[in-house]
Amino acid sequence: MEQIDRNTKLRTVLGEMAARLKRGRDLETVGDLLDFLPRRYIDATTSGRLADFEIDDTAVLMATVVSATTRAMQRRKGRMLQVTIEDADGKQAGLVFFSAYGHESRLIPGVRALFRGKVQRYKQSLQLAHPDYTLITSDDDNPYAGGLVPIYLAVPKVSDMQISQSVRLALDHLDDASDPVPAQIRTARGLVGQATAYRLIHLPSDHADVGRGKRRLRYDEALVVQTALAARRAAYDAQEATARPAVSGGLLAAFDERLPFELTKGQRQVGEEIAADMARLHPMHRLLQGEVGSGKTVVALRAMLAAIDAGAQTALLAPTEVLAQQHERSIRALLGELGEAGMLGGAEDGTRVALLTGSMTKKQREKVLLEIATEPIGIVIGTHALIQEHVMFADLGFVVVDEQHRFGVEQRDALRGKAVRPPHVLVMTATPIPRTVAMTVFGDMDTSSLMELPRGRQPIVSHVVPAAKPGWLERTWQRLAEEVRSGHQAYVVCPRIGEPEDGRVDTVATEAVEPLDLEEAYGDQELAEQEPRELTGVYQLMQRLHDEPAMKGLRLEMLHGRLPSDEKDVVMQAFGRGEIDVLVSTTVIEVGVDVPNATAMVVMDADRFGISQLHQLRGRVGRGDAGGLCLLVTESDNPDTLQRLESVAGTTDGFELANLDLELRREGDVLGASQSGYRSQLRLLRLTHAKDVELIEQAREDATALVARDPQLAGHPELAQMVRSRLDDEQAAFLERG
Ligand code: ADP
Ligand code: MG
Repeated sequence: MEQIDRNTKLRTVLGEMAARLKRGRDLETVGDLLDFLPRRYIDATTSGRLADFEIDDTAVLMATVVSATTRAMQRRKGRMLQVTIEDADGKQAGLVFFSAYGHESRLIPGVRALFRGKVQRYKQSLQLAHPDYTLITSDDDNPYAGGLVPIYLAVPKVSDMQISQSVRLALDHLDDASDPVPAQIRTARGLVGQATAYRLIHLPSDHADVGRGKRRLRYDEALVVQTALAARRAAYDAQEATARPAVSGGLLAAFDERLPFELTKGQRQVGEEIAADMARLHPMHRLLQGEVGSGKTVVALRAMLAAIDAGAQTALLAPTEVLAQQHERSIRALLGELGEAGMLGGAEDGTRVALLTGSMTKKQREKVLLEIATEPIGIVIGTHALIQEHVMFADLGFVVVDEQHRFGVEQRDALRGKAVRPPHVLVMTATPIPRTVAMTVFGDMDTSSLMELPRGRQPIVSHVVPAAKPGWLERTWQRLAEEVRSGHQAYVVCPRIGEPEDGRVDTVATEAVEPLDLEEAYGDQELAEQEPRELTGVYQLMQRLHDEPAMKGLRLEMLHGRLPSDEKDVVMQAFGRGEIDVLVSTTVIEVGVDVPNATAMVVMDADRFGISQLHQLRGRVGRGDAGGLCLLVTESDNPDTLQRLESVAGTTDGFELANLDLELRREGDVLGASQSGYRSQLRLLRLTHAKDVELIEQAREDATALVARDPQLAGHPELAQMVRSRLDDEQAAFLERG
């Protein structure tokens, strides 16, 4: 047979078996078959005993045939074969084949084989009906010479041994010389060749073989993603942007002068990283991550002021209206007269701030749009509507995207299209992103982190409150009331809006942050299968709290996504001024809301929220210097659920929780669907495994160097081919464009 490659159709290699592999598991090419990796291995010399399995298990047994009898069947024609086998413990089981043909010549006493089938009880003994089996002989054609037997996902009408033989046939003809990873890199990283890797995984001698093989395949996965990302970065770098170098004696200097606190070391350092980026002639793409309350807004504002000093307009995008409104207020407050240029009392050399949201009237919006195009508006704050709308900026030079961990690569691309020349972009997220994810999902950006919180921040204490236990909920409301009586404010968060008094029909909250599908996210079947519990609604809880003795005399107000936006704004402002004691709300307050006097939070049905989401919510309290209290109320008695909540209660380390979240959740759900693209091709690589971090880092370095020398990978056709075949067109696009 001639040399073959991954794309060779199996039918040219395997004949009839190819049809079965295609029908059974859609394995069509040599590559498909090689990537059909064993599920696990059993050591033919030591394991695979009857005692390891229970009735109804699919057993894999290493056993010897003790006896075999063929006899005519009573009710049908044909002959059946009954076999007795014995495992290494001397324990016996029966096998039955309702057609002796083909088996009686092989399963003769004394023969050793690996059997695979469902264990059933028949009369007094154990039985496997029509098991798959693989004879273990000392022949040369024993594929399991090393003793490790690969076990595959069952393929109808194909035994494991037949798969092994097919793989071996394919590997024997595979062109070893063609490898997507250049030899130099393989040597430097201690990686085996690709064909060797498949051989080690499918036909191993021992577990070390499997490990070496898999390491190579994990590297391939990392390299595919990193090569696409490196191409993307290279393409951005080839774009031209207007440099916005720092100017002395401008707005930024005036702002720093009037800042009521000292910047943390991290804030200053990140400020310098951003300034260096913006001084370049290429667009900045930087991700700023920092714990909730670490002071990202000030960092962003300072960068905006620097850009304005250099002649640009700037935009700040927020995920919700509440947050956009709050940003507008806090930025106006921070700027003071610096933000009132041209107005009475405004600073002469100042700038102006405009808010643009989806719920404004047409007239309001037109007015703002006109101002943006014609007046000295340096800062435009808005929701994402801002990028969809036909906003004409005089000269948009810098865009900040706040709290957007649900913001995908595609949206970022759309944003870049907003300006004549691509603007500098800073994406801020308060969800600590594990390094692996940062390199994979946000791998086309540079990252900065704010690790420390401003001085004087007090820790948040969290507790899980089992609502079903008598007295606990009452005690919760008493604690909340105590916080208020000592001069502070509190949030109570509910998973849904519920029904207003007048009986208007109402459903689950539709906020910017969608309620989590727990089964989808965590595989929490038990929860999902339960009778759907009535989740606490905002309206319902308002009613309950009005009647709660402990809450008597407290000023309660509610906030949720379906209130008209000016009403939301009024409520948030009143809460900000301390005119509301307890704010009962949905997750609208999850992101970014900043009221330092709020020190306590109660989360109802906390089990309904994900780990990162709870951490975000909790970040709303303890923002001043008084410390915080977070009570996670749940009616659940599911141990896994309680464990999850205890983890959140047990640490305020966002990175630890982000890692835990990643471990518990299923693939692709951590950062939302829009960002799961690159992850979906990861089969062996685990973003949660520490050992894979190093591999991803190496692949990133290698990919960057490869693409720098050869942007279209013209000299590495196999690598280019691997990237294209594993990623979709959009992900691989930058390779084509070069
Ligand atoms: P986040 O990173 O969550 O967006 P913010 O930017 O909203 O955090 O900052 C949280 C609070 O801390 C704000 O009230 C802000 O004014 C304040 N703050 C920011 N930087 C400092 C600092 N260096 N020292 C003291 N307070 C600060
Ligand atoms: Mg913020």
